[in-house]
Amino acid sequence: MLTIGLLGGMSWESSAHYYRIVNQAVRAALGGTHSARSLMLSVDFADVEALQHAGEWQALGDMMLRETARLAAGGADFLVLCTNTMHLFAPQIEEHGALPLLHIADAAGQAIRSRGLQRVGLIGTRFTMEEPFYRERLAERFGIETLVPGPEAREAIHRVIYDELVQGVIRDESRAIYRDVIAALADAGAQGIVLGCTEIPLLVGEADSPVPLFDTTDLHARAAADRALAG
Ligand code: GLU
Repeated sequence: MLTIGLLGGMSWESSAHYYRIVNQAVRAALGGTHSARSLMLSVDFADVEALQHAGEWQALGDMMLRETARLAAGGADFLVLCTNTMHLFAPQIEEHGALPLLHIADAAGQAIRSRGLQRVGLIGTRFTMEEPFYRERLAERFGIETLVPGPEAREAIHRVIYDELVQGVIRDESRAIYRDVIAALADAGAQGIVLGCTEIPLLVGEADSPVPLFDTTDLHARAAADRALAG
């Protein structure tokens, strides 16, 4: 079994789920006392969030490469970056990183394709919804078209992630906002919704959507377990 390198803390609220899911998946596959071989390097999210909102992208890219090298030195075989947003740096990590990257959008793309869907809605941080990196990966590798909410809805989705979900705050009022945004995306033609932020599954589930949801935390962690088991 390979050793999974989890780069977490972005935020730890979702990294804790990654740890549980990879272990559950390995137990389901191998049974008995089996568990996943993994290393987790968990950063202080306050540092990450401050750099994101200051637009200090170079410093963040350097941080991702530095922490990946630490996981490699610790014995990880491949990298699982436990956040959608920081996949903004996937090209740099794929080119210069110390470990091969298991891309979160590929885990989502495979699941969407296996359901036979062609058009999905994407909700996540402002960076994930507005920068092209995520939508392009789904389009180029999987032929999937991605819709994003309008500017006001994007701002509301983003605010709830940073002011509430990464701080462990779950509010019914915010769930209602997310339900409305999801319903509007489905009305606009989305056949499914990518929960493209690893904390969003803490707030909404299948009951909150008229179309199937793609939980990137769950899909990415399961893909990591599969890769570790494939050896
Ligand atoms: N965990 C979130 C994501 O999946 C947001 C936090 C971050 O900016 O890394 O995008």
